[in-house]
Amino acid sequence: MTALVRREVLKYIEGIDKTTCYGCTACVAACHFDAIRMIPDNEGFAYPLICHDNCTDCGECGRACPYANEDLFHDDQPRAYALQAKDHKMLEKSSSGAAFALMANKQICDGGWICGCVFDERYTARHIITSKIIDLDRMRGSKYVQSDMGACLKTVESYLTDGQSVMFSGTPCQVAGLRSYLGINYENLITIDLICHGVPSQTLLADYLTYESSKNGKLASFSFRDKTKNGWCSNGIIEWHAISGVKRKRTSLYNDSYYYYYYLADLASRECCYVCPFARLNRVSDLTIGDYWNADTANLSFDCTIGTSIIFANTDKGISLLSELENEAHLVETSPEHAAAGNSNLLSASPRPRDRDNVYSAIANKGYGEAAKQFCRLKPFVPTIKSLIPKQIKLLAKRIKNGR
Ligand SMILES: Cc1cc2nc3c(=O)[nH]c(=O)nc-3n(C[C@H](O)[C@H](O)[C@H](O)COP(=O)(O)OP(=O)(O)OC[C@H]3O[C@@H](n4cnc5c(N)ncnc54)[C@H](O)[C@@H]3O)c2cc1C
Ligand code: SF4
Ligand code: SF4
Repeated sequence: MTALVRREVLKYIEGIDKTTCYGCTACVAACHFDAIRMIPDNEGFAYPLICHDNCTDCGECGRACPYANEDLFHDDQPRAYALQAKDHKMLEKSSSGAAFALMANKQICDGGWICGCVFDERYTARHIITSKIIDLDRMRGSKYVQSDMGACLKTVESYLTDGQSVMFSGTPCQVAGLRSYLGINYENLITIDLICHGVPSQTLLADYLTYESSKNGKLASFSFRDKTKNGWCSNGIIEWHAISGVKRKRTSLYNDSYYYYYYLADLASRECCYVCPFARLNRVSDLTIGDYWNADTANLSFDCTIGTSIIFANTDKGISLLSELENEAHLVETSPEHAAAGNSNLLSASPRPRDRDNVYSAIANKGYGEAAKQFCRLKPFVPTIKSLIPKQIKLLAKRIKNGR
């Protein structure tokens, strides 16, 4: 699509085909006349809206937009590695093998900046830019919701033009948005994207937490991924201040959480996620990270069961950064095809279920609990039995199965 045609799409964003906008904010950052705002639609997903009074028809927004820009994809086939941090504390706090924490830690120690997603005090996911280790801790851990980019694209650009080193991490479309906006391949920028399943809206997560609070008491803490009780898996933890004191409640993947179910059954993703062009081996970042879920069949020389990342080095810059991690991580080359076999979103977008049409309107009309009962077929009993088996026994069973 040419810049000019894209410009027309932006101009009439009110009627836009929503599959063509990732919400990356590149158009907002590119506008010199402050004519574009990101406005949430009725599902809570932000889309750009042009203020025609300020707009001069210069076309900069269309040029910055990553939609249908094939030039952003790297030509070379990536090299794939299994990675696990040797530092067990770092590993415990990360979603998978701590690939992100290792790289971000190095970046900060070398005097650079990291830009990535944190939860604020209200559990809104936001991108921030920082050089503090304490913020790296907040960035760790997946937040399965669309992150608010705020003004970070412009901030990243200002640091880059100032000669400072920036490591940007996010979903592939956020990385595409940043690179498309910048328009220049800065030597001092390193980009990391995630294998991406898709993103629900912030409204869905906020409504879920409000719903749970109304049932259990004041929210104390929440995280999507937590290894403390069940080791490396997709379980999260939700903690409440019940009237009788602190009560801990484990939310389990899919089976007993009204948010996870929506997320993993693809019932509530942004429309562009169902036709995501980034789900392919040619990536837009220097490095791509994800969970190496089938690592136990890759004949690795280390115990992969405590969390292993799959990491793709897509550019020379990515390969060079990875080689600098060799002392701090178990790093074993593997095949992209093997990794793809255990991770469907590496090569294809999540399918759009028919129920997706009605999920958000049902929440608006009936309330969160009633709508969730209609769409989510929870089976809380299954994870409850699994959770009774101590973590060590589960690990032992896996090791025996893998012959270690
Ligand atoms: C929305 C989403 C969908 C994902 N889907 C898959 C998948 O289908 N398959 C798979 O293997 N892995 C997926 N991941 C990645 C996976 O959950 C782990 O983040 C990844 O394995 C890296 O683990 P880690 O231990 O290295 O880093 P972590 O400790 O998980 O590091 C977190 C990194 O993720 C970034 N991040 C966290 N939340 C967001 C967000 N909402 N938006 C943008 N960036 C964010 C942070 O900036 C940081 O760079 C997804 C992550 C997200 C956020
Ligand atoms: S630049 Fe990003 S937010 Fe703006 S229209 Fe394009 S995809 Fe949507
Ligand atoms: S699935 Fe694709 S379009 Fe959706 S958030 Fe992920 S990268 Fe962006």
